[in-house]
Amino acid sequence: MDTIICKHCGKEIEISEALIHQVEEKVKKEVSKDVELKFQKDLEAEREKLKKELAEKQTQEFDSLQKELEEQKKKKAAEDAKKKAEAEGSTI
Ligand SMILES: [Zn+2]
Repeated sequence: MDTIICKHCGKEIEISEALIHQVEEKVKKEVSKDVELKFQKDLEAEREKLKKELAEKQTQEFDSLQKELEEQKKKKAAEDAKKKAEAEGSTI
């Protein structure tokens, strides 16, 4: 997993978590309690958005991987059928 050093606290964090982490720290440091509540809502929305984006990306990657596997399966099946046909042809 790729990591990044947080410019706020110097901790090593995953890139996928970096934006959320930095927004959280910005919220903690810069805003008052009242505004923080609003930001927390935004943060939750942002977190959900990122989660969805990540899930979408993973689904896309999974789909393309599955397509690739499907192609390989078809190729293998075609090769097997060809081999079988050849083997049967040679015995006749
Ligand atoms: Zn940090």
